[in-house]
Amino acid sequence: MDLTYPPEVADFRRELRAWLAAELPAAWAAPGFWTTLGEDESFDLRRGWERRKALAGFGGIDWPTEYGGRGGSPTMAALADAELARARAPRSVNPLGLTFLAPTVMAVGTPEQKTGILAPMLRNDVIWCQGFSEPESGSDLGSVRTRGERDGDDFLVHGQKVWTTSARHADRMFALVRTDPAASRHRGLSLLLIDLRSPGVEVRPIRQLSGISEFGEVFFTDVRVPAADCVGGLGNGWATAMLLLSFERGASAMGQYTDFRRAYDQIVEVARALGRDRDPSVRQSLARRLVELECLRYHALHVLTEVERGRDLGFASSVTKLQWSQAYQGLFDTFDEVLGADVGLDHPLGEFGESGGLDLTALRRESFWTRSVTIWGGSSQIQRSIVAERVLGLPNSRLA
Ligand SMILES: Cc1cc2nc3c(=O)[nH]c(=O)nc-3n(C[C@H](O)[C@H](O)[C@H](O)COP(=O)(O)OP(=O)(O)OC[C@H]3O[C@@H](n4cnc5c(N)ncnc54)[C@H](O)[C@@H]3O)c2cc1C
Repeated sequence: MDLTYPPEVADFRRELRAWLAAELPAAWAAPGFWTTLGEDESFDLRRGWERRKALAGFGGIDWPTEYGGRGGSPTMAALADAELARARAPRSVNPLGLTFLAPTVMAVGTPEQKTGILAPMLRNDVIWCQGFSEPESGSDLGSVRTRGERDGDDFLVHGQKVWTTSARHADRMFALVRTDPAASRHRGLSLLLIDLRSPGVEVRPIRQLSGISEFGEVFFTDVRVPAADCVGGLGNGWATAMLLLSFERGASAMGQYTDFRRAYDQIVEVARALGRDRDPSVRQSLARRLVELECLRYHALHVLTEVERGRDLGFASSVTKLQWSQAYQGLFDTFDEVLGADVGLDHPLGEFGESGGLDLTALRRESFWTRSVTIWGGSSQIQRSIVAERVLGLPNSRLA
């Protein structure tokens, strides 16, 4: 494992830091800023910001320049994630496209798909969502029932997807669709790119406990999709989906580490302000979370070194997903422990902290959010089975 950055990466970091200092509005980092905005307003601000970032040369850091990227290394991309988190830049509004679909299209897309999809995605001209899960198909993705019937050069798509993140704001969906009902479960699937503005598409937002609608249900009735908009080959959707999920499960968690570490420091500050830092059980819990976060950092650096050496992570990406999601959720278990039963939901903002007030509402929202991170992108149980069987080579539990 190499813990030092080469000179060109250090130069890149200086350049990015200078750009962020000049361009990122200071007000965006103030406690409470994002939690007071409406969903659409927040989305529009973030969409515009990310577009400006890409146009300034700080998007697609490790993408080839022919697709509008910077042509940098995986280390530069991971460092950029960490720098953005450090500067408290807003999170991407197009993560499903940028992180998952883009590398898949680069690996197995046609030349037309590469030209037509990648640069517009980088500029946020097209926002993407992922249509894998269905009411009866979550962990068991091979049972997908949304079907695509061939009609000349097109497919007519019928069915329903659920838990579709960004469904309200997305322009297009990459969807797992059964295009050959006669083939066995995993063989009859294709990854189709569906225009959500097409006739026959209905998006129904799902309202969450927090009051916002981060995801929704999407219904398809005779939706026409050109067969040319299939990524990775017709009937090859399972292999394409597995490739895509290996990107979803994460190459390096440097950005996450930086985010979680800042949350950790804030939680320590809350513990001090409440006098909870004197409780031995809280102290032990905080120490344990710090150890887990540092393990995550070293794992992220290890993965980065492997990727720089050209190693394909494949199923090993499940280790990263498991590690960051469990560490993140555990951190907020400790946050709940720090608050205890005495600090109600209506506790006023900004009373905590030496640094001019902590945003308790944002931390609470994050705490709710961490409940989901061990579910999406494949649940922890599924990741453990993948690691056991595909990485460690243990016997298949279903055959035992
Ligand atoms: C915040 C959030 C965002 C999401 N965004 C998207 C999205 O954008 N696009 C999309 O397609 N989906 C999305 N999902 C859906 C997500 O991928 C599924 O929820 C997930 O795959 C689990 O599927 P399920 O909900 O059907 O649960 P199930 O598959 O019914 O699982 C229920 C429980 O059983 C366990 N289980 C199931 N099978 C096994 C097994 N073989 N061995 C051991 N345990 C098992 C699971 O671990 C889980 O604890 C999102 C989910 C959440 C929470």
